[in-house]
Amino acid sequence: MRLPLALLWFPVSVAAVAQVEVRVHLYNSANLSQYVLTQATQVANRAFAVAGISVQWHVCEPSCDENSGPPRYIVGIAGPNVQPRSSGALGFAMLEAGDGDRAVVSLPRLELFANSTGLALPVAMGHAIAHELGHLITRSARHSYGIMSARWDLAGVARMQQDSLRFAAEDVEKMQKNLKARHPSVRLASSNRPEL
Ligand SMILES: [Zn+2]
Repeated sequence: MRLPLALLWFPVSVAAVAQVEVRVHLYNSANLSQYVLTQATQVANRAFAVAGISVQWHVCEPSCDENSGPPRYIVGIAGPNVQPRSSGALGFAMLEAGDGDRAVVSLPRLELFANSTGLALPVAMGHAIAHELGHLITRSARHSYGIMSARWDLAGVARMQQDSLRFAAEDVEKMQKNLKARHPSVRLASSNRPEL
């Protein structure tokens, strides 16, 4: 059953959550332009900032330093040779044992999605990356609403266009809890408050 988004979507007060840091290693297997990739990470940054999460992005060309630091997740930008199994999916997260920190977003699927909705590609991609990272950080395949909706309907697309689609409060809580548990000494980011 799909409930009206407005009843379920609670914006999170920015001041209410401390900032925790994560690292994301990006593998640009689709040869996406650096410009689009940077724009997409900025879109994702804004969603995570409101959730109290500060993301350090590293583009791995060809690999990234695995030195210790904040919790690390891997996201691949895939071309046509790696497609999500379900037909409408834009990406997938690998939550099985041993792969709990890897996700993929599909460039061909995102191009289709962007074309059919009128979204700019970096906007679609930034939200898809945030969604898959949401699965990885919550360690759950579960969907809720906002960024973690199973499917983005027209209302969701409109919110993306307005830069106001966010993580649901319950997902923020889970992400914060898991990150603190995974990295108990997790560094609190400096007192930057997102301008949102
Ligand atoms: Zn999902």
